[in-house]
Amino acid sequence: MAKAKVSIVRCPDYSEKSVLRAVKGAADLLDGMEAFVRMGDRVLIKPNLLSARDPEKAVTTHPSVVKAVIQLVRDAGGVPMVGDSPSIGGLVKVASKAGIYDVVREMNCKLVDFDDVVEIRGSHQGVFKTLEVARAVIDCDLLINLPKLKTHGMTTMTLSVKNLFGCIPGTKKIQWHLKAGVNRHSFAQMLVDLYGIIRPGLNVVDAVVGMEGDGPGGGDPREIGLIFAGADGIAVDSTICHVVGLQPPDLLTSRIGSDLGLGVGQLKDIEIMGEGIEEVKVRGFLFPRSMEPQWGLPQPLRGLLRNALTAKPRIREDICKLCEVCVEGCPSRAMTSEGGKIGIDYSKCIRCFCCSEFCPERAIDIKQGWLLGLFGGHHGGD
Ligand code: SF4
Ligand code: SF4
Repeated sequence: MAKAKVSIVRCPDYSEKSVLRAVKGAADLLDGMEAFVRMGDRVLIKPNLLSARDPEKAVTTHPSVVKAVIQLVRDAGGVPMVGDSPSIGGLVKVASKAGIYDVVREMNCKLVDFDDVVEIRGSHQGVFKTLEVARAVIDCDLLINLPKLKTHGMTTMTLSVKNLFGCIPGTKKIQWHLKAGVNRHSFAQMLVDLYGIIRPGLNVVDAVVGMEGDGPGGGDPREIGLIFAGADGIAVDSTICHVVGLQPPDLLTSRIGSDLGLGVGQLKDIEIMGEGIEEVKVRGFLFPRSMEPQWGLPQPLRGLLRNALTAKPRIREDICKLCEVCVEGCPSRAMTSEGGKIGIDYSKCIRCFCCSEFCPERAIDIKQGWLLGLFGGHHGGD
């Protein structure tokens, strides 16, 4: 079997020149953008645009990366458009705040809202038999996935596979969070099923400045200085796991995806192009406090120990501005605003950490389960 190819290219900063050089370099190592884009193809570029944050907060894909991909698609003869479906705030508002709306206008490119939904049958290997996705994702000739390298309280990292959750239109995301978010495994399975249906042609990961710690919303920017690219999103994500010091089996989407044969999860089956993994390893990368160690506990015992093991969102009342964005977006309706404070009903909370991602004030952090707290530490890497 041919190995999956993943390219790794250094990118020291977000200047347009540096980013264009790095993204082009990453694509050239995979035989160039022309290997993915045919003349006249309608190419949908899908960044991470989940909530309205400034680019330097490292929550969304940086506009320079989006601009570089638009340029390369056009140079290869494709017709680029940019689309996503933020959960909160509307696409134009979120894209404006993230600096992507300016890029789209400057490049005279279309911004596509994912408001038209189609129901798609899942693959026979998957668990979720049907999924609802944006019509624009299905109708395009090629999808280029542009995730940001970030930690995530529920999925540990948000990379190529998790970024596709944005292909489920905003109004439907809440329902899918509820259907699939009963536990991490079920949510990861849904993401993998979605990946199996959508299969982006190319994944380009913005890891120039990533996010570590309590992502997706409350983590801290971490300079990494890299662009990753590859056609196999599971291989790209598994490669990144090695770079930041996470074992790929600990990233459930990689484990499930490779078990189902949707991609390559093992390094021995991946051909790394450009920089070597050892040369670019990120030392002491911080993972979310919600990350559960793989103790191999049987499921019934894990259920009993849920509160001891599982981290929870916690409102920082000293920072909270009572804007109620989190209350509006919480998929399980576990949040309330009463008596001048935000409350969380933990018996309803599915630990999706959407509230942390939505909060514009970083007023929601992650409180570790008390048992995990005894053992401390959430460092990766060596
Ligand atoms: S309280 Fe936060 S973590 Fe819990 S279900 Fe609501 S949005 Fe998700
Ligand atoms: S926690 Fe954040 S999102 Fe929720 S009300 Fe407070 S400031 Fe707004």
